[in-house]
Amino acid sequence: MIARNPAPEEPSPEQEPAAPPTAAALAREIAFRLEVNRQLGWSVPLASELRSPGRRSTGSDRTDQGAAVSGSVAAERERRQALLDEMDREVSACTRCPLHSGRTRTVFGVGDPCARLLFVGEGPGYDEDRQGEPFVGKAGRLLDRMILAMGLERSAVYIANIVKCRPPGNRNPEPPEIRACLPYLHRQIEIIRPEVICTLGTTPLRALLGASTGITRARGQLFRHEGIPAVPTFHPAYLLRNAAAKRPAWADLQKVMGFLGLPVS
Ligand code: SF4
Repeated sequence: MIARNPAPEEPSPEQEPAAPPTAAALAREIAFRLEVNRQLGWSVPLASELRSPGRRSTGSDRTDQGAAVSGSVAAERERRQALLDEMDREVSACTRCPLHSGRTRTVFGVGDPCARLLFVGEGPGYDEDRQGEPFVGKAGRLLDRMILAMGLERSAVYIANIVKCRPPGNRNPEPPEIRACLPYLHRQIEIIRPEVICTLGTTPLRALLGASTGITRARGQLFRHEGIPAVPTFHPAYLLRNAAAKRPAWADLQKVMGFLGLPVS
């Protein structure tokens, strides 16, 4: 079972300021996202559209843009998956930090390489270490239900962790371990280019988003990673132990849904 607890005080790694995307790159990304939405049957406005300066796309624009990139989405998904697979192989042989010595399997991440939503947890627990997949234990089943409640499926999002190897005894990862492993997550995010990130618990809040407070104070607030909106919420393992926290966690997920343009009832 997963027993990942909110982390104690930890310094957060420095983050490089991101160069803003060019207008052409932004337009290509929007066109690609529109086509992904069309193929997935999404009928909601894109968060990237809502964030973009200038006028909103019209229905005919969408059709034109979608047609222009039709056929390239499958190729793009394949390209991103190949990049992730290549990195997965690299990670499976990684010995950058001491956590490699106690792992059964590395836990790279799982989901759609073109996912609009990325969940980031802390690190593998017992079940994940054996199965090589994040969030597969009791807390993972709760995360699945949270995703379903948002109107999504696990296969439509991407799920990753701050560290790819299980800390012994399910302890929190140490700052040097986080610093050693974080570049992998940064590269995953660069490849997947999610529209929204939802961090789970204190460790990703601090390690990825650079917060100095804990999850209880920071949950539901808007952060950014390389310009991508990020909303921190409680870790599902914490929610299993604290049923009263489920209501604020749902409010946080509704904020995420707002960024995705999903209907909030
Ligand atoms: Fe490498 Fe990350 Fe595993 Fe450490 S936790 S050995 S950096 S993959």
